[in-house]
Amino acid sequence: MSEFSYFQARGWIEVVVGSMFSGKTEELIRRLRRAEFARLPVQVFKPVIDDRYSMTDVTSHNKTSIASKPIKSADEIWNHLHKDTKVVGIDEGQFFDDGLIQVAQDLADRGLRVIIAGLDTDWQAKPFGPIPTLMAIAESVTKQHAVCVVCGGTASRTQRTAGGAGQVQVGATDAYEARCREHFKPVVDQPSMSLSR
Ligand code: ADP
Ligand code: MG
Repeated sequence: MSEFSYFQARGWIEVVVGSMFSGKTEELIRRLRRAEFARLPVQVFKPVIDDRYSMTDVTSHNKTSIASKPIKSADEIWNHLHKDTKVVGIDEGQFFDDGLIQVAQDLADRGLRVIIAGLDTDWQAKPFGPIPTLMAIAESVTKQHAVCVVCGGTASRTQRTAGGAGQVQVGATDAYEARCREHFKPVVDQPSMSLSR
């Protein structure tokens, strides 16, 4: 069982990690929809930086979506949190600063179920933002994988294929590919379509 699907009265933290295109957002949305089926009040937040598909929705690469509140810092959750909310979903957690760690702890200590999706590593395969610490303190960690676009194997890395060397550069298939350990390079690489292998 990849998540706590039984009813639990106390709060906890669930983390869903993996490379880009590994289905983190789809899995986050699936868990939140199940909570809604259980009539648990749900609120969803995402960093304002992630405007790839919609300013307000959390949207997967497969175009499934759920309404969310864009926020600049994790502390803003306290300004928007409804008193009856039981489940808090957060997408693109890697883009928040370390303040997200304490907010997640405090929400869980108050009895809320906190589900955070985010990249475990950046485009250079280095641990990304607050996610590594959240993986350590969470009650549940789900590590997902995409399909390597070069060989069809299990992709655990996010290959940058366009742009500069900054850690944060928002993009989708225009700038990133899912790759396995063997085909990943910690530099900006040409897209696999143009690779001769
Ligand atoms: P994440 O949030 O981890 O980036 P999403 O949930 O947004 O992932 O998207 C997952 C979807 O991306 C898959 O269901 C599939 O339709 C699509 N997809 C595109 N490229 C790949 C790939 N290389 N491997 C797996 N899924 C991919
Ligand atoms: Mg996503």
